[in-house]
Amino acid sequence: MPKFGKRSRERLATCDPRLQELFEKVVELVDISIICGERNKSAQDEAFATGHSGVQFPNSRHNKAPSMAVDWAPYPIDWEDRDRFLYVSGIIYGVASAMEPPITNLRNGADWRRDGRAHGNKFEDLGHTEIHRGG
Ligand SMILES: [Zn+2]
Repeated sequence: MPKFGKRSRERLATCDPRLQELFEKVVELVDISIICGERNKSAQDEAFATGHSGVQFPNSRHNKAPSMAVDWAPYPIDWEDRDRFLYVSGIIYGVASAMEPPITNLRNGADWRRDGRAHGNKFEDLGHTEIHRGG
């Protein structure tokens, strides 16, 4: 059974407890790494400047403490493997809906509009999962 390494665990620890529980369940099903949890101002400035985030501090769900967003990647990491990101994203939604209580307001960076369609985004962020506003 896959499990998180030390750095993934440290990053996940900066996230909302619901996201921690969710991703602890997900990693039992599919091997993933946690890339980022909470981002402070300098980290958000860097993410925006390098095109890894579409918004500036403090407008990312990563800028909450604890973080309301998780960046993850299938392991081993291949940033070009869009299909695998979408596959894992589906698993994340499935696990979230089976939690008690379920997390019903997740949003993935492949589907910002939350219409179940992973295309037509101006800014695509396949390995980004957040608890959407209001959650
Ligand atoms: Zn993100």
